[in-house]
Amino acid sequence: MSGKIRLINGNGLRVDGRRPNELRSIKMEVGVLSNADGSAYIEQGKNKILAAVYGPREVHPRHLALPDRALLRCRYHMAPFSVEERKSPAPSRREIELSKVIKEALEPAIFLEKFPRTSIDIFIEVLQADGGTRCAGTTVAALALADAGIPMRDLVVACAAGKVDGVLVLDLNDIEDKEGEADVPVAYMPNLGLISLLQMDGSLTIEEFNQSLNLAMEGCKQIYKFQKEALRSRYVTIKEEVEECLR
Ligand code: UDP
Repeated sequence: MSGKIRLINGNGLRVDGRRPNELRSIKMEVGVLSNADGSAYIEQGKNKILAAVYGPREVHPRHLALPDRALLRCRYHMAPFSVEERKSPAPSRREIELSKVIKEALEPAIFLEKFPRTSIDIFIEVLQADGGTRCAGTTVAALALADAGIPMRDLVVACAAGKVDGVLVLDLNDIEDKEGEADVPVAYMPNLGLISLLQMDGSLTIEEFNQSLNLAMEGCKQIYKFQKEALRSRYVTIKEEVEECLR
């Protein structure tokens, strides 16, 4: 975080032309893979991420089964071609950490206790990365869980806020993440009003931290609308397909 690159121009705009409190452009689609129980795809700025869910299903290896709830497993993985410098396909420490962090962000939303001795497996594949993939990965995984028909208390939606060139900004991209002063990723369940992920990288005053947290939660609320719309379109399509078959 050197702060040497100019990240806010004279008009107060960011490197990609956004205003400080503006999200990147977002596209979501639910039910994109026919072989998974649930799936979803997100584009957020230059991020392109796919999520697939299997389960609830029998646990392998069986000794991992939990007597009182489903075992939730999550694998966050970046494709070798997802970043500028080829990434080894083997799981890095960062990917292992992000798999854990995303699993813990999603876990409170799922009624795991309804499916004892089963597993629910989430696979997140980052096809193209441009900062904030843990957040976009969480958002798209929640959609894939919903698409798999897994009962949830709420959707989970994630977004980061942070500080670049002394300005608090929403939804940092890669260069803002790397060259800015701070990054605060947040996962939020909008109807429950609960936060299930809160991290911070860099340094902020307490006041700036509180403002960043509020900004990230506002971003989550906006992204939540896209999530709901993506689910709605999926079920409108299914309804149309069923009606077509019955005709
Ligand atoms: N990144 C990269 N190579 C890697 C890992 C990450 O170029 O091996 C980039 C990628 O664009 C990613 C960004 O660095 O989105 C920020 O990574 P970070 O660990 O902060 O996680 P993220 O912001 O994606 O949740």
